Amino acid sequence: MLTEGFESKRENIRHFYAYFLTVILVLTGVASAENSSKQYSGGNPCDFIDSVEFNGTAANESVLWQTSIGPRLPGSNASAQLRQSISENLTQWSFEESSHQRENFTLTNLVGTYSPNNSTGQNVVFVAHYDSRYIGERDENETLRSQPIPGANDGASGVAVLIELGRIIPSLDLQHDVTLFFTDAEDQGKPFLENTWSYGADAWVSNLTEEYKENISAYIVVDMIGDAYLDFTRVSSTSDVLWDTVTPIAAALGMIDGEVDCQGNNGLSIYNPDPGAERGVIDDHVAAHNAGIPAINFIDLNYGENAAFFGGHWHTHNDTADKVSSESLEYIGSILELGLRTDAWVWNHSEVQHENATLNSSENEQSVNNEQSVNNEQSVGDEVRNEIQNYPWLTFFGGISIAMVLLLVVLLRWQIRD
Ligand SMILES: [Zn+2]
Repeated sequence: MLTEGFESKRENIRHFYAYFLTVILVLTGVASAENSSKQYSGGNPCDFIDSVEFNGTAANESVLWQTSIGPRLPGSNASAQLRQSISENLTQWSFEESSHQRENFTLTNLVGTYSPNNSTGQNVVFVAHYDSRYIGERDENETLRSQPIPGANDGASGVAVLIELGRIIPSLDLQHDVTLFFTDAEDQGKPFLENTWSYGADAWVSNLTEEYKENISAYIVVDMIGDAYLDFTRVSSTSDVLWDTVTPIAAALGMIDGEVDCQGNNGLSIYNPDPGAERGVIDDHVAAHNAGIPAINFIDLNYGENAAFFGGHWHTHNDTADKVSSESLEYIGSILELGLRTDAWVWNHSEVQHENATLNSSENEQSVNNEQSVNNEQSVGDEVRNEIQNYPWLTFFGGISIAMVLLLVVLLRWQIRD
């Protein structure tokens, strides 16, 4: 190369320019094609609100029953009894169990699928952990701290919402799949040990095929949403684009202060949609988010009247059924049902079928947004590592592009020296 004449150097420069431009054009083209087909565009919630059937009282009965069978620890009889009850209650769903060994216990995930005949193949996944916590480390009474807690809000509330929703879904005439994912061993974590939580959700997500993941248009976790003093914000490691679909639904239901509901009344301050109010939490949504799946989590982090974040009855023996209200369960259940009725969580149907193959540019866009509001729990190093893990294709071409620029600079320098 060094001995080549000036003309051939110019030729090389032209070739590099052409290659560089092609890479950029291909990237831009793929990105815009992906974005146009992976957009949410749900209907107006107020057009559908009168048909919402979700029954908070029925859901609350399930919370009572779940706590009555005792702690749902992984591997326990109560855990098996709850799984059996869920599948017996939802006869139109097909259920599968999968077990995994972790620490000194075996966890069992329960996954129910409803797939209508005319399904586009897109899949909305609702997620709740059905295990309850093995200790109540925050209890005021020291002798109780090593004992399993009732888990009425932290466990039973999310399960109750999913069961009630599961009863309604077959009558909704949906054109996509719905999955009800009851995770085990979300809440067996050791305090302050990040990697000991959400074992069940982690195991499920890491065993999904690429094709299955690509078809998940929304992965929506509900956890601790039965608090009689319900209020929640966005949480870290979630999809801003997916949260944006929730705002009009929550507003229609009168859950946002400053927004009028379908009757024209000002909403209560139950959901704060401000991205700046986002809180950091590690839960069943993180594995999905890190795998490039659009995920959000409805979670009320201050349990009880005037409770502090991660305070109140959380992880204490006061997490009992009387602290959970039918009304709160109905608010959350209604968001989920209304989201399904308005098609808020499926992508535009047109191009979805034939773009399963390659990359996730729309998710890449989300993660850029997320980086702007990255919470202080996750280090910048973790974020960068996640980006590389999630988008190896883009990282690869990013690397090539940078290399091209450097080569151009070197070649231009030779030219100047000549
Ligand atoms: Zn918990």
